[in-house]
Amino acid sequence: MLKILALQQSIIASFPKFETLEKLLVQQSIINILLLGTGLILFLVMFYVKIVSFSEKEYRASGIAFIFSTVFFAPFLFLYLYDFPYKDIISVSLLAIVYLSIILLFIPIRPKIKGGFQVPKEKHDERNVMFSRNELKPGTKQFDLYYSNNADKKYLDDKFREKPGLLSPDSSMYHPFSFASAHANLEVIEALKPIVNGPVAEQEINVEASKISNYLKTWSKKLGVYSVGITELKDYHLYSHKGRGDLYGEEISNKQKYAIAITIEMDNEMMQTAPKGSVVMESTQQYLSSGTIALQLAYFIRNLGYSARAHIDGNYELICPLVARDAGLGEIGRMGLLMTPKLGPRVRIAVITTDIPLVIDKRKDFSSVIDFCGICKKCADVCPSSSISFNNREEITGVLRWKINSEACFTYWCTSGTDCGRCMAVCPYAHPNNYMHNFIRWGINNSYIFRRFALYMDDLFYGRKPKSRNFPSWIDM
Ligand code: SF4
Ligand code: SF4
Repeated sequence: MLKILALQQSIIASFPKFETLEKLLVQQSIINILLLGTGLILFLVMFYVKIVSFSEKEYRASGIAFIFSTVFFAPFLFLYLYDFPYKDIISVSLLAIVYLSIILLFIPIRPKIKGGFQVPKEKHDERNVMFSRNELKPGTKQFDLYYSNNADKKYLDDKFREKPGLLSPDSSMYHPFSFASAHANLEVIEALKPIVNGPVAEQEINVEASKISNYLKTWSKKLGVYSVGITELKDYHLYSHKGRGDLYGEEISNKQKYAIAITIEMDNEMMQTAPKGSVVMESTQQYLSSGTIALQLAYFIRNLGYSARAHIDGNYELICPLVARDAGLGEIGRMGLLMTPKLGPRVRIAVITTDIPLVIDKRKDFSSVIDFCGICKKCADVCPSSSISFNNREEITGVLRWKINSEACFTYWCTSGTDCGRCMAVCPYAHPNNYMHNFIRWGINNSYIFRRFALYMDDLFYGRKPKSRNFPSWIDM
């Protein structure tokens, strides 16, 4: 009897231990689930990156993602499968590191960037643009007048004149098919230049600003544009004087009220070959496509009884990237080009100025681009002519911006025969427009810390100085 009582008491006494054991078991299984779940998620994310990178022909990125997928999964699987002293402490520490890092990367930290929405205080003269200077023929009145007024530019321009020239058979990147295709594109553009403006229909059709704005935007998208925005046409958008064509030297006066900016994507595969011939083939193609759509829209508006002028390659009155930026399509980055949110600089722009009533889009805050360009400098690193600055932005005509050495850049173009595009091809913003890269772009926009992490990962996955790819096989026959 005494023995039975003693046994009863020992069973009762052991109940709290059961409770503790139960708690321990629950804790253990939660940690195990978290370990397995976290390891699997990291594995799947990296495997997804591997597949997407492979489909983009980014084989280095694909290989690294594959290594990461196994390396990330291994410690979690090990902790899940094996028991050893301090396992719980190690597991909880590892989980804490992972989840705290994720929180740190994604909390929105956006310090204010110096500069804000500045606008240039002076107009640019199109005669100073490299294309205009390239068109000056030695021995002509225009040539002599330009260099007597700009003696400092003569020495610089003599350097590009010594080179074979754009699309020349003697240039270093000469490739018969791609150069001939680019020539064909330019010849069609040449034929379009005189029709940027035209007569306006006598009868003005009444339009509602919001409806016609929506119509123009939707139609543009159907025609193939990547983005479209509307802004008020400002004086600083316009060049002071024409620098190309028959109206060379004429003062520009455009009193139209609105400007519609459209951007067209340049194909990533073609751009990745930069500075080979497929780049100039692609850039001229998209000058042509954006120009054709701008002409269509201008004709359409004039048919409704309102003035409209298309601004296309070789026949501009204004600076397209400035208009596009003010129309909310992006920000001007280190290489001096428009950086769009999902394609970066990998676009061509055309503009239509008009008097038809429109609803304007606001300039957007893309200061994350300025901050990212401040640390990235990848374009400056790869530029074969060292034309892109490694320094901070400087104040030029009242605006904080990066100034590129356009003479050195153009001299390289005249050597290679193409419009190079190395800077565009390597820009981390220029990766394809898909879920994976858009998620990274969202993170870059969202957080100061994520930007630094994204740049480190971009260098690791794609290389600090990515190699130029070969021509697509159908071009390199
Ligand atoms: S490569 Fe880097 S620094 Fe250059 S424009 Fe792109 S993001 Fe900016
Ligand atoms: S186009 Fe080529 S040469 Fe010109 S700035 Fe870009 S990388 Fe440099």
